Amino acid sequence: MALYQFDVHAKENSVSGSGRPKETNITLSRGDTLVITVPPTQRWNAGSNLWSNANGLDNSHLHTIRGFTCLAGSLVGSLDNGRTFFFVGTRLELPILLTTGTLSLYYWDTDSDNNSGFVTATVVVTKASSADSKPLSARASLDKLIQGYDRFKNQQPLSNNITLGEIKKHADHQHPFAIILACADSRVPPEIIFDQKIGDLFVIRVAGNVADDASVLGSIQYAIQHLNVKLVLVLGHERCGAIKAALSVGGPEKKGFSGPLGQLLSGIAPLVEPVYRRRDLIRGQEVDANILDQAVRVNIRRQISVIRDALVNLGQESLTLDLWLNRILVVGARYDLDDGKVEFIEAPVPPDPKRSPRLKRLALLTSCGMGIIVAEPGGRRALAVDVNRRENLQNFELVELESDQFALKTVFGNYVNATADGRVIVGNNNISDAVRLRFIKVGDKRVALQFQAQAQDRYFRAPPTGDITSVPEMSTSTFFRIVEVDE
Ligand SMILES: [Zn+2]
Repeated sequence: MALYQFDVHAKENSVSGSGRPKETNITLSRGDTLVITVPPTQRWNAGSNLWSNANGLDNSHLHTIRGFTCLAGSLVGSLDNGRTFFFVGTRLELPILLTTGTLSLYYWDTDSDNNSGFVTATVVVTKASSADSKPLSARASLDKLIQGYDRFKNQQPLSNNITLGEIKKHADHQHPFAIILACADSRVPPEIIFDQKIGDLFVIRVAGNVADDASVLGSIQYAIQHLNVKLVLVLGHERCGAIKAALSVGGPEKKGFSGPLGQLLSGIAPLVEPVYRRRDLIRGQEVDANILDQAVRVNIRRQISVIRDALVNLGQESLTLDLWLNRILVVGARYDLDDGKVEFIEAPVPPDPKRSPRLKRLALLTSCGMGIIVAEPGGRRALAVDVNRRENLQNFELVELESDQFALKTVFGNYVNATADGRVIVGNNNISDAVRLRFIKVGDKRVALQFQAQAQDRYFRAPPTGDITSVPEMSTSTFFRIVEVDE
């Protein structure tokens, strides 16, 4: 919400004659609410001793100007540079539904010659809140980023002329559609590479595009939870100096760096450690270009995991589900310094859950260290097993059915079902037999699994050994942690 005050002069700001509009520079968009008030006691002289206030009431005859009729002396506004008008009076509350534009205010008179005086219009603009404007989906956000990159690649950018109107449009709110964690390197500016304007990208830049830091993760969390952004892109780049230095810190050179730079680099060094295992490829004291490029890619993937893990560890069920179901995407990209090409490191096109329900494999762990669901080929038994017997820990896919209801599908393609007497079994491979589950958040990182049997809510119970059953009370059910399983 922003408050503005403007003096509208009867002489200077009349619609016709020598008058000009009072340009407020307030740009209004769909969903905004405009409120203009004028104290009724303020008056202006319409000439020949005819006094009027913002309602035009003291001077009660009508003027028609360009096909629009208002009381002479009225305060009127326009959102299209005076092509059409609306009557303001002493108070106007206008939800902006279709017309968008920059607000101008006028004194309604055909002749400004003899006018004098002014009224003070107080303008309050309530911008559409982030909750009201529907955020772009993760997939649409990624598409928009790729389209912007295509413009950059084809040297047809749209973003190189930023008008004052565009700056003002975002003065009171922001609705960025992507979070970009990029290297601080001066040659890798995300707004230019993805051809986006003010208000489009929420950019965090740090040498080596490292996420493992409260200020970086907190910024990402803020943009997801408070700005409703659905896409996070980790943008690394070719010949990254930070990664090269980190390799020399942890590699054969064991080079030392002091101060905060040393801390930054020793934070990156273990992340690219798998690359050292191929030391035979490092020639002499120089970090081989191939090794460096591998490390850049490893680092991008590693930072994606750091971000995903940090978001899951917030223990917020809806956020976790959004990540599992690709409603929130964390992807990576590598920028090529030589030719400006962007290569997406993770699959740039997420699976559509409606068309392709296959999701990353998950395991359910109980607080007593048991893993469920374990099934046999062909189904019929659902067991809880000791998670230490990892070879027996069977993972499953989470399949979204509708409106936060899910089915569990085992690696054998069978769906978890429940019998009328409360036993949990593994049914056949027909999804219509699957028990429809809801995840109920319990405490920080635990969930209960709820389903319907005989028109009654029931909850999973996993005993230390044996068959999994269900209970009618959540308090006696088992609470689970849901973890991702490496394939
Ligand atoms: Zn860099």
